Amino acid sequence: MAGTTSSAPPARYDVIVIGAGHNGLVCATTLARAGRSVLVVEAAAEVGGMAITRGFAPGYRVSACAHLLHQMPLAVIRELGLAEHGLEFAATALPTTAFGPEGRALTLARAGVPGEAFTPHDAAAWPAYHARLGRFAGLLQGMLAAPPPRLGTDAWSDKLALAKVGLKLRLLGRRDMREFLRIVGMNAYDLLADEFESSLLQGALGFDAVLGTNFGPRAPGTVLTLLYRLAAESAAGSMPLAQPRGGLGALTLALARAAKAAGVTIRTSAPVERITVAADRASGIVLACGDEIGAERVVSSADVKTTFLRLLGAEHLDTGFVRRVDHLRSRGVAAKIHLALDRAPKFGALAPPALGGRLLVSPSLDYLERAFNPTKYGECPGEPALEITVPTINDPALAPTGHHVLSAIVQYAPYAPASGWNDAARRAFTESILATLEVHAPGIRASLMGCELLTPLDLEREFGATGGHWHHGDLAFDQFYMVRPVPGASQYATPMAGLYLCGASCHPGGGVMGLAGRNAARRVLEQGV
Ligand SMILES: Cc1cc2nc3c(=O)[nH]c(=O)nc-3n(C[C@H](O)[C@H](O)[C@H](O)COP(=O)(O)OP(=O)(O)OC[C@H]3O[C@@H](n4cnc5c(N)ncnc54)[C@H](O)[C@@H]3O)c2cc1C
Repeated sequence: MAGTTSSAPPARYDVIVIGAGHNGLVCATTLARAGRSVLVVEAAAEVGGMAITRGFAPGYRVSACAHLLHQMPLAVIRELGLAEHGLEFAATALPTTAFGPEGRALTLARAGVPGEAFTPHDAAAWPAYHARLGRFAGLLQGMLAAPPPRLGTDAWSDKLALAKVGLKLRLLGRRDMREFLRIVGMNAYDLLADEFESSLLQGALGFDAVLGTNFGPRAPGTVLTLLYRLAAESAAGSMPLAQPRGGLGALTLALARAAKAAGVTIRTSAPVERITVAADRASGIVLACGDEIGAERVVSSADVKTTFLRLLGAEHLDTGFVRRVDHLRSRGVAAKIHLALDRAPKFGALAPPALGGRLLVSPSLDYLERAFNPTKYGECPGEPALEITVPTINDPALAPTGHHVLSAIVQYAPYAPASGWNDAARRAFTESILATLEVHAPGIRASLMGCELLTPLDLEREFGATGGHWHHGDLAFDQFYMVRPVPGASQYATPMAGLYLCGASCHPGGGVMGLAGRNAARRVLEQGV
């Protein structure tokens, strides 16, 4: 979906949203439905940001970054009428299968039904673990769909929001409250090694604690990231791990249709060069083509460094704030590989629906930690951890008849290897990934028709997020909730009057959730426009 929607666009809007990723589109639609005139300007030729479907080899299409929808609340999907705007699912409630050595595999259904690889100890520990983490995730879940409270203000809304968090914690009861406080700052490695015996189960559960983050499972705070993922998944309701028909791009196309139906004007191939300032407030934008467009409010879904340091300019901000933005950790370590295959890959005896589900190569916590270690020194892991989908099992139209697509998130890849991402480095890393795949899907190389590797640097270049980071900035205790992305800009409003943030940089972070966009729109409306 490209181009301008309005034949005679006004010269001035109530709100300009920078970026037509899913958060920008949710934000724009929420504002337009509240009666505001809204323009969305997107640098790329298509809407969708990190949630697009595109070709990568002749006849083969793939979700270029995000490939599974598991965090967008059903309430958001219904509120925006995405089904009426064309969103369909090729599959929902996908199972997760984790591969271990010697062809062992463990399939976890959503309810966590134990498979054969469970030891009697693990089978006994599983229900209590699952229920306990579910309760703790419930505590965080309520925090996702509202702006975080401001610290140290006299406003009742902030006091009430803080009191709600405290009350929810208190309502856990003494035992759970103690346990929550004991584990929340812990590392996932220790927690999972305490709970379970099976390395394969530990590795599969630990993978969720680090996916998209710049941490190994031994890093403090990885229980928080695990709980956070569980919280977002349970906020998504009954549908976690879904595959939109046509890939994740079909979701953002439906979002764009909903936006247009609400009256939003969308301009693609329209990179913003700078945010303009007049009388000490954001007054509009200048596009790279030279067009200057005014607005009462500017809302940016571009990452926080791009927004403040490149588009607004440090000269408009105080030094302390600029330093905080500059110091934000935003180097991505997730890469993506796409394979075009002339037949379905054979992962042992795995058949649909498991073959069409989420497949993990994370056979133990030590494997994960070893895959992480080299990236600290700008090196690539020899045996990377993988989250694999074969989307053509559920949605054959993504490839020529009888052919298949394999899409894998590669955890971990350095942003800047010592050699740079030159041809040799790319070839060597692709080889390691293919060798890892070959162990679990023998013969896969022989069916290869095409291959695309997207390193964090490629992701930065193609999708415009600094560091190519999944969350537009690490999700960690010091970049979380009331201090996300940085103190001074953590409730969507920023130190520059009239300028707001609405993308993955802000609470509740990345993942295709839509809540940052919705929360930001509500904050803009609350503050009056
Ligand atoms: C490899 C990878 C795999 C992932 N897998 C999953 C997954 O399976 N499931 C999941 O839920 N999440 C996944 N994610 C995370 C998810 O894709 C992102 O967190 C999410 O899409 C971010 O959405 P956003 O709207 O906040 O930002 P973005 O999608 O990054 O959108 C920001 C938009 O702003 C535009 N922009 C930037 N600068 C300018 C400018 N100057 N002018 C105009 N426009 C500009 C960009 O072009 C972009 O379209 C993955 C991420 C990566 C990198």
